[in-house]
Amino acid sequence: MGYQVSCHRCGNHQNAPLDVHDDWEEISCMECGEFLDTVGNWKDAHSPSYALQMLNMSRTLTLQMARESQPLNDQHITRRATA
Ligand SMILES: [Zn+2]
Repeated sequence: MGYQVSCHRCGNHQNAPLDVHDDWEEISCMECGEFLDTVGNWKDAHSPSYALQMLNMSRTLTLQMARESQPLNDQHITRRATA
């Protein structure tokens, strides 16, 4: 995942420290040392909300189930018809 933080002062791009677990930890530019954001604030702004993620997951699952159950049903019907 290429999550990057760009510096508004010198334009340097660096990887977002997603391995940092403390939300109050500061993200600062590696080039000029400019304070860019806090980890918590950055995560809030860049990661989709949990509810939205769950919605997408359930929608994908529903579609997947609908797609997978269709040929199974057809197969069952034809098999029963020939037997
Ligand atoms: Zn910078």
